[in-house]
Formats: sequence, structure tokens, C-alpha cells
Amino acid sequence: MPEPIPQPVYNTSAPVLVTGATGFVAGWLVKRLLEEGFTVYAAVRDPGNEEKIAHLKKLDAGLPGSIVFFRSDLLDEGSYAEAMQGCRVVFHTASPFTARVDDPQRQLVDPAVKGTRNVLNTANATESVERVVVTSSCAAIFGDTADIADAPGGVITEDVWNTSSSLDHQAYSYSKTVAERAAWEIADAQARWRLVTVNPAFVLGPGLADRPSSESFNLIRQFGDGTLKAGVPPFEIGMVDVRDVAEAHMRAGFVPEAERRHIVFSEVRTLMDMSEALQAQFGDGWPFPKRVMPKWLVWLVGPLADKAFTRPMIAKNMGHAWRGDNSKSKRALGLEYGPVETAVTDMFQQMIDAGAVSKP
Ligand code: NDP
Repeated sequence: MPEPIPQPVYNTSAPVLVTGATGFVAGWLVKRLLEEGFTVYAAVRDPGNEEKIAHLKKLDAGLPGSIVFFRSDLLDEGSYAEAMQGCRVVFHTASPFTARVDDPQRQLVDPAVKGTRNVLNTANATESVERVVVTSSCAAIFGDTADIADAPGGVITEDVWNTSSSLDHQAYSYSKTVAERAAWEIADAQARWRLVTVNPAFVLGPGLADRPSSESFNLIRQFGDGTLKAGVPPFEIGMVDVRDVAEAHMRAGFVPEAERRHIVFSEVRTLMDMSEALQAQFGDGWPFPKRVMPKWLVWLVGPLADKAFTRPMIAKNMGHAWRGDNSKSKRALGLEYGPVETAVTDMFQQMIDAGAVSKP
């Protein structure tokens, strides 16, 4: 007999907190929570910024649940206390996701790590909290794609941790690793609430906000604005639709038996596969890349084109195989994944609609 599929249990009698509710991933999570009838306490940096919260207000108006906004900042200790009052489940999604920083300690590591401690210490002090779901990342599982070959069987699983990133190399991945470690340290030192992490690979799909913030959009924009016209680097990556990531959070929050880490990705694709999916859907007239650049050429010109492409980054990520095991997310959370091509093309369509990319 097949194993029964784990089912989420939605008890809407208490509010739930979503940190970083203005974000790309968080938007879809808030939508799912409202569909189920939850009262969502949305912690945002500036609840007075109408442009940033307009899409959330629209969801609030059209769906069964409701949103209450709170002002909170990852670096402002205690600023999540009010928003957490009475919540049973806390979703901690807020963390800066950008590849282009001048001061990685200040711009990435401090908000990720101090912010995680801030939110989880507040959970310790808030009696109503039973579960905290942290949006971690595959970036906390491995640093460079080349590391995957060293994982047991050459495949990343939830047992693997990123040991190769640092402030100087893959600083975003470093921020996610140190933040998730800090989360487990706090969670494992107490027994009242349970920590469950969602560790997505690269998240794609349309955003709910008109002006999407996440680094995810920068890559897709480059397919449309001509940046990658000369060709794409030979790069493989695990990908997942943002709507599946939202569902993973729902299940991490509400499947009673859910525990520990979950690698969340649908399929592995190359950048060239993404270009072909865009070409098939949107046709000619766009500067979609038509070829894969040889690695030596990327090594030579990459750092000149984009400061996120350092030579060590290129050496350890281009031309290496991405192999991951997402079976725990299916087995323990009951997650089913949609195709990533739809996520790519829906995302590009949204960027066209929002005027973020246009045919040259
Ligand atoms: P976004 O940039 O859209 O969301 C990041 C959120 O963090 C925003 O709401 C932002 O608030 C908030 N934030 C940043 N700094 C602070 C701060 N100092 N205080 C309070 N809030 C802050 O990115 P994503 O939606 O893509 O990322 C959401 C989460 O998912 C992150 O934890 C990220 O690491 C993780 N993730 C993302 C992946 C992806 O491919 N997109 C892959 C794997 C994990 P504001 O709107 O005010 O800037």
C-alpha cells in the first residue's frame, strides 16, 4: 500500500505572522493563507508605503481572510513582538536577497542573522507560538555547484550543509547558512515550539506586486533586455515555481508531523533551457540568447560584465552538475510540483505587462 499523503490541518482560530510580507515569495504565501481564511499579521518595514502593500490590500479585499499590518525591521530588536501576539504559527520569510552588495556583512549577514535571532527570540517570549517556519534556501545546503559532487552520492539532501561560502565568496549563500544555523541553535535549545525550514532552490514565477523586488527577477530581466544576447553561461540550477514554494510553506506550517529541513525544487534546468522556453512562448523579436558561451569566455569577460560574476564563482559554478533530492518534500509535506517552464514564461509575461521588459 502506498504511504498516505500528509494533509495540512488549517485552524484559523488564531492569527499567523508573516515577516517580510511585501516580498515575492511572501506575497503568494499571504494569498494562500487568506484563501484558507486566516487572519494574517503582516510584518513589513513600512506599512505607510502604499505602493509596496497595494497588492496585499487587494488580496485582503478579495479573499476570505484578512490582513493586519505591523511595522517591524529585522535589525530593530523586539519589533516583531506586537505582530506575534496571539499567533500559533510564524512564517519568517524576511531576509535580503540580492547578489550585488558593497558591504556583505551590513547588507546581507546582519539582517539575515540578527533578524532570525530577533524573530526566534521573540517566539521564545511569545507563549502562543507553536511552530516557526523559516524560509531558508538551498544556499544553506551547498555553496557552489561544484560542491554538489562532494555530497554523498553526488546529490544534495537535507543532511548536507554549505561549508564553502564566506563573506568574500558567495556572501548571500553565507548569510542564509549562518542564519539557518542560528535558527536551529535557538529552536533546539527549547521544546515549546517546533522549527520547520523550507529550503527552496531558485524561485521563479510571476510576482503579485507591480514592482517585484527579488533577485529572481534580475535574471529573467536579463533574458529580455539584451544583457545575455551574446549567449548564456553553461549553468545548471534547481528551479521551482513560486506558487509551489508558497504551498511548501503552507504544508510546513500546517502538516502536523512536518519537521526539520525540506529541499524544495521541481526540476533542474540550464539557462539555455530557460531561453528556449521563452523563445517557444514569445517568439522572435526578443534578444533571447541562442547559444551557450564556453566557460573560458565567461571566465574572461564575466567579471567585466557583472560584479556578481567573480572568477572563483565562475570556476566553481559554470559547467558543474546540479543534483538534488526533493523526495522529502513530496513524502513528508505531500508537495506536488508544477513545471518550471510555466513559471519562467508566466514571470516574463508579468514583466512585459508591468513594463519591466519590452521588445527592442
Ligand atoms: P524579496 O526581496 O522579494 O523579499 C525579501 C523580503 O525581506 C522583503 O519583504 C523585504 O522587505 C524583507 N527585508 C529585507 N531586509 C529587511 C529588514 N532589514 N527588515 C525587515 N524586512 C526586510 O525576495 P524573495 O521573496 O525572493 O525572498 C524571500 C525569502 O526567500 C528570503 O528569505 C530569501 O532568502 C528566500 N529564498 C529566495 C529564493 C529565490 O530564488 N527568490 C530562493 C531560496 C530562498 P522590503 O519589501 O521592505 O524590502
